[in-house]
Amino acid sequence: IPGTTFTGPLTFTEDELAGIRAESVRAYELDRAHVFHSWSAQKQISPMVVSRAQGSYVYDGEGRAFLDFSSQLVNTNIGHQHPVVVEAIKKQADLLTTINPAHANAARSEAARLITERTPEGLDHVFFTNGGADANEHAIRMARLHTGKHKVLSRYRSYHGATALAINVTGDPRRVPNDHGDAGTVHFFGPFLYRSEFDATTEAEETARALRHLERTIQLEGRDTIAAVVLESIPGTAGIMVPSKEYMQGVRELCTRYGIMYIADEVMAGFGRTGKWFAFEHFGVVPDLVTFAKGVNSGYVPLGGVVMSNAILETFADRSYPGGLTYSGHPLACAAAVATLGVMESEDMIENAATLGETVVAPRLAAIAERSPIVGEVRGVGMFWAIELVKDKTTREPLAPYGGSSPEMDAIVGKLKAAGILPFVNFNRLHIVPPLNISAEDLNVGLDVYEKVLVEG
Ligand code: PLP
Repeated sequence: IPGTTFTGPLTFTEDELAGIRAESVRAYELDRAHVFHSWSAQKQISPMVVSRAQGSYVYDGEGRAFLDFSSQLVNTNIGHQHPVVVEAIKKQADLLTTINPAHANAARSEAARLITERTPEGLDHVFFTNGGADANEHAIRMARLHTGKHKVLSRYRSYHGATALAINVTGDPRRVPNDHGDAGTVHFFGPFLYRSEFDATTEAEETARALRHLERTIQLEGRDTIAAVVLESIPGTAGIMVPSKEYMQGVRELCTRYGIMYIADEVMAGFGRTGKWFAFEHFGVVPDLVTFAKGVNSGYVPLGGVVMSNAILETFADRSYPGGLTYSGHPLACAAAVATLGVMESEDMIENAATLGETVVAPRLAAIAERSPIVGEVRGVGMFWAIELVKDKTTREPLAPYGGSSPEMDAIVGKLKAAGILPFVNFNRLHIVPPLNISAEDLNVGLDVYEKVLVEG
């Protein structure tokens, strides 16, 4: 079967390499002349040209292979260029490339069926968006209209997207320059024992204190003003802090008790990343709204969406939903989703992620943490892991400041890249987030590099 069996890098002929180099030189020059990059000071960047990709590897402008331990932005859950999905996109392109979303279409209907087959009973309808930020915007709009309330609670150390409201609910330093303070958003501290805001020393203490803090926030903000709590089931970009089952069940219970919609942001953690279809399944909770993007079709064509409960659906049974997007449920994106969910299932990718996470990543990272002087903590599940780097294991001072970088961090990233790894880096953390269908051999090749860099320096 293609996909899971891609192991090791491609080799190129001299002619192919010459072609790759020529096109990449031009790509770089035009990029610097005309492309404006996200989250960057435009004069300070030197973007890597990605010329080709297949399976778990990407190739730079020289044709040099990099093992993709980032899955790009944690979205290529089935690896790059899966032939079944590429073929499905081509086939759809021949049939129908775009429709007004007011129409029905086979690709969108089938994608909606397959997605809701995987969400809990009672969450049976999908509103499609173009990505994760707009999925969160729409979920919040639905919650506000459904409850007739306006405030939204979200945690510090979270990421929910870069559009106006999504960046306002985001709880990381990138919110600050974008925060105009007019969106009715309130932040609270979630559980994160390693850097506890509650002076807790055990997981049970952290859970109890974080729940009490959330309840007090709800009470003091006024239960009649709060439409929704939006929460990544496992915060991703902010550090892969796996919460306890008791915390998540407590959040669900507080939302129910105070008439608040619980929005599970599954944009990064969903579609197999944690070894289950959705990360909230680890905690036995059922949200009112689920937002998704990325892994739904591995990002081959932009797609996101909101799955809503039947109670929310009912709000809009005889009342028009005031929102829409020209490309909602785009045929190419939905055809890619149908094929992606198919290969994830037929090639046992989610089981692969769960098993390799438990049997390879967990023990190897634990061994690295034991031996490395700068690894403060490792945590995660499935193909979703964070390595917390510190200057000193006792003080836990981060190797780079929250929201910034440091020469020490840059040096580590440089060594990983020089050894052929494309890492995911966030402030003082390295995230281990390769495709779900990475082979055990490739996974170990990559982890050998992390071990060498973090243990031997
Ligand atoms: N929510 C989470 C949890 C994310 O990780 C992201 C992106 O990384 C988003 C929302 C935003 O998604 P997008 O970049 O597709 O708008």
